[in-house]
Amino acid sequence: MLSRGSEFPAGRVALIGAGPGDPELLTLKAYRRLQQAEVMLYDNLVSPEIVDFCPSTVERIYVGKSAGNHTLPQEEISRRLLDLARASRRVVRLKGGDPFVFGRGGEEMALLVEHGIEVEIVPGITAALGAAAAFGFPLTHRDHAQSCVFVTGHYKDHSIDLNWQALAQPQQTIAIYMGVKGLDIIARQLQAHGLPGTTPAALIYRATWPNQKIYPATLATLPEVARRHAVAPPALLVIGDVVALAENP
Ligand code: SAH
Repeated sequence: MLSRGSEFPAGRVALIGAGPGDPELLTLKAYRRLQQAEVMLYDNLVSPEIVDFCPSTVERIYVGKSAGNHTLPQEEISRRLLDLARASRRVVRLKGGDPFVFGRGGEEMALLVEHGIEVEIVPGITAALGAAAAFGFPLTHRDHAQSCVFVTGHYKDHSIDLNWQALAQPQQTIAIYMGVKGLDIIARQLQAHGLPGTTPAALIYRATWPNQKIYPATLATLPEVARRHAVAPPALLVIGDVVALAENP
């Protein structure tokens, strides 16, 4: 639960969203918790400046994962959080973006709550919001998009399990997380289910980081653009007319 107070009792786990990258996008509550922490577990998408907001006395444990390269299995991370909380430590679990948007925060919270540990959730700015702000395009717009969906493009066993029909709707913005690997399938399926190949699309690499980059394309040219620029994760794929409003530096 989001706690209204400013205290951080021993034995609590604060599950914190670090935002998309830029340290200035951290919430004040997150910043305060980092100052109060005794031990911190953090992921690979958290920028080093944010990790350094913790006093140097705080124990820092890197539990980062990148696609296919799990530093620590998820169960192990949850188990560590549980052990630290049981040892009455003030524990911060720092995740990229928001902990409840494709961050597996729900799983970590469930295990802790099941064992009677107090969990505090501190939301963060999710990648889609960071990308839209960084490149100046709205996710919804009265003339272009009445809805915006956040989708995982996680590629498993050579396919992606999504409701393509529901996604391929006019006047809708689609923000696809973890979609780089499955880009060809995504572009093909959305067109097969009725979205025009001319629909604006963009791959946005490391939004709000100093080396952020946008690769504008259309649904039809997306796979080719990604290949030409060798776009690698972490990148967000955004599809929809609003993308045409982006400022291209
Ligand atoms: N909880 C995170 C998402 C974790 S899933 C959030 O709310 O943002 C990891 C995926 O998020 C990456 O593969 C990428 O698709 C996306 N992502 C995270 N940070 C990003 C950034 N700064 N720029 C672009 N995409 C990002």
